[in-house]
Amino acid sequence: MSAFEEIETLLHRVRSNHRASLARAITLIESRAPKHSKFAEALIEAALPFTGGAIRIGITGVPGAGKSTFTEALGMYLCGLGKKVAVLAVDPTSSIHGGSILGDKTRMEGLSREKNAFIRPSPSGTTPGGVAARTREAMLLCEAAGYEVIIVETVGVGQGETEVRTMTDCFLLLQITGAGDGLQAIKKGVLELVDAIIINKADGANTVRAQQACGEYARMLEVLQPFTEGWQPQALTCSALEKKGVDAVWELIEAFEVNTQKSGVFERRRQTQNLDWFQARLKQSVMEAFRQREVARLPKIEAAVSNGELSVAGALKKMLAKEDRF
Ligand code: GDP
Repeated sequence: MSAFEEIETLLHRVRSNHRASLARAITLIESRAPKHSKFAEALIEAALPFTGGAIRIGITGVPGAGKSTFTEALGMYLCGLGKKVAVLAVDPTSSIHGGSILGDKTRMEGLSREKNAFIRPSPSGTTPGGVAARTREAMLLCEAAGYEVIIVETVGVGQGETEVRTMTDCFLLLQITGAGDGLQAIKKGVLELVDAIIINKADGANTVRAQQACGEYARMLEVLQPFTEGWQPQALTCSALEKKGVDAVWELIEAFEVNTQKSGVFERRRQTQNLDWFQARLKQSVMEAFRQREVARLPKIEAAVSNGELSVAGALKKMLAKEDRF
């Protein structure tokens, strides 16, 4: 069997709901080995006609906000409704530190036992931005495998939320209220990206405080420019631990989907995301090709720029003088 026939067979198995094959396919696209890259490209190309059918949900929040617990509760609720759910993680810290905040935990044991669920931790050890690229392709493979809901989870550090926002339809921020700290510190700008804020851990002695925070967030959201045209972001409380309010979160996501499908915003966003992705990859590929070709000159010129012997403009002139093609 030729390697490309193997790709055909692998895709066939992915599409026949064979989870181990889906995991293998994702491993192939995550591989950094040059010998794999043309097969990975062929696989994505072949899968493309079968993609696009899922609702793509992004979830962010600080470590400890309850993202895993919430994702598991939502996933199990959806499996209960007969849906196929895939969970992917983008962990920007894994590419910076080599380790991983999200990947190290034993996570979502209940959900991992559901036959209609697929969980994939973050790829580690790739370049910044590379994690998101692989997750995007993993998402396409999950769609080809017939998953109807894809949850992309990211930890609220680094560039995680921006990356996940650019690959999902609906973006949720999971918040908690801590004793005495009122509205929890959120990274500047994240509120402007969200379609909803879920105040988690609304249970026991924390219930009233969570409800108060919910009101405060709702008022805050009212004065912000919505990220999604025609959709007013909302705040909801939930307890992922006690599985309370998870159904309301799903109703909200469904309302979001209906609303944005009707207005055309849903489709337009996906088109823009595809184009942005292409442009980002183009930039990356051109840069890589350039670096490879200039492997002898580039380090010397970089050293000259860093120690002040050469101005940036001068360095660019030197580098690009013969580079009409870039
Ligand atoms: P993550 O780091 O955002 O993924 O957070 P985890 O899901 O690992 O949760 C962090 C801690 O908060 C764990 O000890 C959970 O059991 C707890 N937790 C998560 N959701 C809830 C909730 O709704 N209520 C309460 N009381 N605790 C929760």
